[in-house]
Amino acid sequence: MQFDCDANATYAPPPEISELFQASLKLLSNPSAMHRAGQLAKATIEEARQKILASVGARFDDHVIFTSGATEANNSLVGVLTSKHQGVVTYSTEHPCLVETFTRLNRNHGNSVTFLKPCSSGEVVVEDILAAVHERTKLVSCMAANNETGALAPLSTIVRRMREIAPHVLVHSDASQLFGKGALSFRDLDLDLMTISAHKIGGLQGVGALVVKKGVYLDPLIVGGSQEMKLRGGTENVPGIYIFGKIAERVAATLDERCARMKSARDAFEESVVERLPSVKINCSGLPRLPNTSSITIEGVRGDDLVVALDLQKILISTGAACTSGKREPSHVLLSMGFPLSRALSTIRVSVRDDLSVSDAQYVARKLCECVERMRQVVPVENLGGLTEGEVGVGGISNAQGV
Ligand code: PLP
Repeated sequence: MQFDCDANATYAPPPEISELFQASLKLLSNPSAMHRAGQLAKATIEEARQKILASVGARFDDHVIFTSGATEANNSLVGVLTSKHQGVVTYSTEHPCLVETFTRLNRNHGNSVTFLKPCSSGEVVVEDILAAVHERTKLVSCMAANNETGALAPLSTIVRRMREIAPHVLVHSDASQLFGKGALSFRDLDLDLMTISAHKIGGLQGVGALVVKKGVYLDPLIVGGSQEMKLRGGTENVPGIYIFGKIAERVAATLDERCARMKSARDAFEESVVERLPSVKINCSGLPRLPNTSSITIEGVRGDDLVVALDLQKILISTGAACTSGKREPSHVLLSMGFPLSRALSTIRVSVRDDLSVSDAQYVARKLCECVERMRQVVPVENLGGLTEGEVGVGGISNAQGV
């Protein structure tokens, strides 16, 4: 039996996925075609759009632009900037797909992008955002929940205060991690733009959406077709969109019970770990957090060694920042929070699904503690595996694949 505690990377689909998948194969016609099969595919997309709007608390006349995932949705944000004099305020703890989108804007297009850092506790301070906004600011972007620490941003306060001081500024949130793991209402939050991803809620990989409030204009990122109201060219991923709509509807209808189950498992896991290893630090535990996420710093072990050790026990966890080409990279999120390199490298992320029972969570904790105790006997605390503080760049995310 395998214990998947890496749900923030991809939330494994529910059992009914095979049925949905089978049904979706009957929809493989081009939605732009005039014949009936094409029109059926088109109608399927429109039905999924309505389901997504309802599941995220948007209005029926808001827009859902289907994309190839949250990465593309976040890249599409460049389309709201109509001149290079316009500015953006965001956080260096955002997902790399957003950080790099805006870094490129800064570098190649001359837009002024301000990357704020949260407090060392991981807290996003609303006053910092307000202070960074100036008369040329066009967009503020703040993720709803951090994928590594689970920390929630005070989104409703951010939007309310922005409306008071700078009503012309658009507010976007990457809600890829909050969707399906906490209450989310696009309209109650009064957001202008929001990013979501299908595989973070149990849908297929390669599908996502940018939700856009009625009246907000943006230039398409991908042109060359009239799909998605000319806002995203290219033949739609009909099966992926169909399944996204169905899963979103299911996730919204069962949100409270699923969140309660995730929280019970996550809390049981944390309690068991802390009981046996009292020196561990649960990051962002003082903040409102996703119910399923645990970011734990365990001094004396390397996070990536622990990931491998637990993998051998059929327990899937992550360090938060995946390594590419075998190169170990510390988490840009933790470094932005001011973690020293050694602490960042000794941090793991455990993100549970709602089908992990409390006793399974306690089993995972026991196995983790056993691995830590074994590893502490053989690996010196200060061993950073060849990386030194000086080797880590300020952003530190060039090779990171935040998931
Ligand atoms: N934004 C956040 C907060 C994420 O956690 C992820 C996951 O990797 C992404 C964006 C990218 O999502 P996708 O894989 O759909 O492109």
